[in-house]
Amino acid sequence: MAHTPGTELTAVSIPAVTTPATADRREAIPQTMRAMVLDGPGRPLDLRELPVPETAAGQVLLRVRACGLCRTDLHVVDGDLTEPKLPLVPGHQIVGEVVTAGQGAERFSPGDRVGVPWLGRTCGECRFCRSGRENLCDRASFTGYGVDGGFAEFAAADERFCFQISPDYPDLQGAPLLCAGLVGYRALRMAGDGERLGLYGFGAAAHIVVQVARHQGRRVFAFTREGDEEAQAFALGLGAEWAGDALLPPPEPLDAALVFAPAGELVPAALAALDKGGTVVCGGIHMSDIPSFPYRLLWEERGVRSVANLTRRDGEEFLALAPQVPVRTEVTRVALEDANEALERLRAGAVRGALVLVP
Ligand SMILES: [Zn+2]
Ligand SMILES: [Zn+2]
Repeated sequence: MAHTPGTELTAVSIPAVTTPATADRREAIPQTMRAMVLDGPGRPLDLRELPVPETAAGQVLLRVRACGLCRTDLHVVDGDLTEPKLPLVPGHQIVGEVVTAGQGAERFSPGDRVGVPWLGRTCGECRFCRSGRENLCDRASFTGYGVDGGFAEFAAADERFCFQISPDYPDLQGAPLLCAGLVGYRALRMAGDGERLGLYGFGAAAHIVVQVARHQGRRVFAFTREGDEEAQAFALGLGAEWAGDALLPPPEPLDAALVFAPAGELVPAALAALDKGGTVVCGGIHMSDIPSFPYRLLWEERGVRSVANLTRRDGEEFLALAPQVPVRTEVTRVALEDANEALERLRAGAVRGALVLVP
């Protein structure tokens, strides 16, 4: 189906399929649902009754069982990301149960449990899509940004961009895998094969990446806000061999550093911590300005790069790897209507592991 650039996929009305089974299921779906809605940047989310989404062709309708909170949600709500659909239901780490499917959607059956990530849809035609880089698609739309997401009781998603979730993960524990895990994994891949890995900002992504990195035989150094002993102890408990303040040098040079905290001053600090040939990978979608720094920090083939979004291949690989590590996620359950307080906790950095909303 053609997709118009710059617009979300709008629901097309599909003639109802009239098999009795489908009709029965349809009756079980309520007309309206509770959702947390963003009306404009800088405003708190508003708890509201919305119509349950229509399923367009190729989409599945999910009953949301859990939806992880991500720093990107904070950037959307705060207006750091400037082009959200409005009004918007945020949320892009959805674990949901398939309720029904739109025309042509045959990949999943009612009752299946699936995950919905940030990458909501790509065009499949641009030069990025055609070269295995759909994360950079010119006409991508993103869950909980360009299309409504999972801070609600129901969500519709393009079935081609949904993932199966291993039965090893209950709903809450599975949710943070879908962005913190996926993007963290992509960032780790961009870091190369170096043994000594620094993690700047020890939140939802880092608490997953440290486990994967240890599984790969790497040594992990965790960097937190100054004096954040609780986060440092958390990192050490998950396998980091050293934890300390982010602006201080590590005990030995690093081969790579992943920066998950949105603070630009961490980039020169991480560069200064690198050995020759090392790479700094910035894993967030938004960051404060990076202060200028002397060229000697970049000299000797050090590099700085970012990681944007994810490809479906990242998702398949990571979600197959996670139960083998096995990655354990630490989650705090939050009621849907408490999303604003949860975002505030994320803003303050007062979260151990990941926050997950439950409708
Ligand atoms: Zn594309
Ligand atoms: Zn995210």
